[in-house]
Amino acid sequence: MASYEYEVHEYDVVVVGAGGAGLRATLGMAEQGLRTACISKVFPTRSHTVAAQGGIAASLGNMGPDSWQWHMFDTVKGSDWLGDTDAMEYLAREAPKAVYELEHYGVPFSRTEEGKIYQRPFGGHTTEFGDGPPVQRTCAAADRTGHAILHTLYGQSLKNNAEFYIEYFAIDLIMSEDGQCTGVVCWKLDDGTFHVFNAKMVVLATGGYGRAYFSATSAHTCTGDGGGMVARAGLALQDMEFVQFHPTGIYGSGCLITEGARGEGGYLTNSEGERFMERYAPQYKDLAPRDYVSRSMTMEIREGRGVGKDGDHIHLHLNHLPAAALAERLPGISESAKIFAGVDVTKEPIPVLPTVHYNMGGIPTNYWGEVLNPTAKDPNAVVPGLMAVGEAGCASVHGANRLGSNSLIDLVVFGRAAAIRAGKVVNPDSANPTLNQASIDKAFDRFDGLRHAKGNMATAELRLEMQKTMQSDAAVFRTAETMKEGVEKMTAIAAKMDDLSVTDRSLVWNSDLMETLELANLMPNALATIHGAEARKESRGAHAHEDFPTRDDENWRVHTISRVDGNKVDLTYRPVVVDPLTTEAEGGISLKKIAPKARTF
Ligand SMILES: Cc1cc2nc3c(=O)[nH]c(=O)nc-3n(C[C@H](O)[C@H](O)[C@H](O)COP(=O)(O)OP(=O)(O)OC[C@H]3O[C@@H](n4cnc5c(N)ncnc54)[C@H](O)[C@@H]3O)c2cc1C
Repeated sequence: MASYEYEVHEYDVVVVGAGGAGLRATLGMAEQGLRTACISKVFPTRSHTVAAQGGIAASLGNMGPDSWQWHMFDTVKGSDWLGDTDAMEYLAREAPKAVYELEHYGVPFSRTEEGKIYQRPFGGHTTEFGDGPPVQRTCAAADRTGHAILHTLYGQSLKNNAEFYIEYFAIDLIMSEDGQCTGVVCWKLDDGTFHVFNAKMVVLATGGYGRAYFSATSAHTCTGDGGGMVARAGLALQDMEFVQFHPTGIYGSGCLITEGARGEGGYLTNSEGERFMERYAPQYKDLAPRDYVSRSMTMEIREGRGVGKDGDHIHLHLNHLPAAALAERLPGISESAKIFAGVDVTKEPIPVLPTVHYNMGGIPTNYWGEVLNPTAKDPNAVVPGLMAVGEAGCASVHGANRLGSNSLIDLVVFGRAAAIRAGKVVNPDSANPTLNQASIDKAFDRFDGLRHAKGNMATAELRLEMQKTMQSDAAVFRTAETMKEGVEKMTAIAAKMDDLSVTDRSLVWNSDLMETLELANLMPNALATIHGAEARKESRGAHAHEDFPTRDDENWRVHTISRVDGNKVDLTYRPVVVDPLTTEAEGGISLKKIAPKARTF
């Protein structure tokens, strides 16, 4: 057995992750006087949230009529009826409050003439329950909204005495014999020391796992560490087959051009110069939701109407928009287009391609962020001491497809909800739970095994195999054949984790070992994704199955629950929550309005 010395830190709450979700949870916990630690493997303001561009959805109605019921309807339809209705109602109803709180904390939003928060149109956000024109619902700080939010929340968390543990890498959860989470084991990257955090509540806010794919808009740190820790603790992941491809990643680099670019009037063309979205989505055109636009672009390319010498991408035009508007509303992406595509957006179109962007699936939770234990007899049973928020979690408000600008609002609404809930269930006066030594030893054994791995394959080599396989076999369009092949290949690839070779055995700034730990986390996420996809015999949201092109509500309006053990995946299903929180008589949305129907735009 490996033996490592460690220091123990006791807190009421430990939040793992300092992106938008982690910081909003941290701030909310600290504001209530809970002793709160926030752990992050990167400096907080370098979390991927900093890259969020377009904005954050809330029905403020600053630019025209809007209501939370319309926002809720759009989210339900956007999710292709796979989201949990209670959580989607909570999101839409609490969104305005959460955004005004951000404003009061100091987020420098762009402004209208009258000084109100500026809002822009985004895909799938409409008026009149999908019958009216697009709505301007997405609150923005130019095209650097995530940057503005993250810096503000970090400052506020410090002001409220939250304690930060920066460049600490969480290795594994500490679980008691009877299934309670009581803390987390961490490795301090810059000095090689180890730290055990003991808490009454652990909140996973570790972000998505975009890096399971070859071409992704997400940061290299987006390696699904929370999902990995949960899988190793024998807990479940949910709806992992739903991976969002953003229509406008820059061709080649994958760097994102925000949907706000189309919100401000940008449009896509094929090699014939045609605005083809008018054909696929006559009502909302370029502002149809992302799954829709990504599929339409892929069809154009497949049918020989792609642009470029290989006919393998699409053009995004902003060059018809006034240069002053581009400079004011989209300065960041104008710069990205110059750097990554060599394009002056005021003169030429940007070459773009659908690129992996967001994980709808994640750790299943209720709308308070409490992690569900879907195999318990009681369907509402939660895992004591464990919450998950942000892209790592799955509440589920995005279902089979997330609407643009609905993630940033998910981060702050559910980060805030987790804090509200913790205020009720965490007693600051009680003693901390005892730590299960066997669980700590297990974490160190695994760590030590990877540190001394003496196999034949470099981490980067195996990671590339995984990324290429996921990219080709769990793509925008999927067939029974590609997914079967994907399952076989991924099973073999995951087995090669036992044949890894780590060359650096030191404990200080050992990026080889850190990337190996990250690969060990990406692997269960990727496995759950391809297995869930192969099993789902229908098309819904981002899961476009060519052999089963229609949605099948009778058999498949269910959440996929996956448990990953090594390279084996066990799938079960859990019903979707169909009842909203409030009835129509109480001012809520009518059940008729949100009943499943064909999803056209
Ligand atoms: C380029 C880009 C643009 C986007 N634009 C928008 C937008 O305009 N609007 C919108 O709504 N959404 C947008 N999204 C989506 C949205 O930004 C993300 O879903 C969201 O920021 C995720 O936030 P998070 O807090 O869950 O995680 P992240 O911001 O990814 O943060 C994860 C945190 O967890 C920490 N962490 C992870 N693993 C460990 C570990 N093992 N140990 C310790 N710490 C760990 C990291 O250090 C980090 O602090 C965009 C996404 C991208 C990639």
